[in-house]
Amino acid sequence: MRFSRQREAVYNVVCSTKCHPDASYVYEQVRKVIPNISLGTVYRNLSELCEAGRLVRVSVEGSAERFDAYCAPHVHHVCKTCGAVTDLPMEKIAISHDIQGVDHYQVTFYGTCESCRNQN
Ligand SMILES: [Zn+2]
Ligand SMILES: [Zn+2]
Repeated sequence: MRFSRQREAVYNVVCSTKCHPDASYVYEQVRKVIPNISLGTVYRNLSELCEAGRLVRVSVEGSAERFDAYCAPHVHHVCKTCGAVTDLPMEKIAISHDIQGVDHYQVTFYGTCESCRNQN
């Protein structure tokens, strides 16, 4: 896929963080590099990057869609207190990768992240 300056900036923001940003986070960061970019352009580039397989959409209950530059199959943990989305180590979860008819899956665990747990 062709990388325009805008698309590259959008992609770089998602790649530069492990926080699984939503579109408005990406927008705020990209604006530091391209001040006149619109939120609509950010959305469009995010979905084109997803369609091209460069990014993965992460749906989170009760929150805006998030984006992940780590495209290998993995599972997420969502903190119900602060909303943090983190990757869980696959070795802690047993998922069969050879179920017939499955080429894609999304698994999300909901709970409390380590830093929220430590505050109590
Ligand atoms: Zn938390
Ligand atoms: Zn992830």
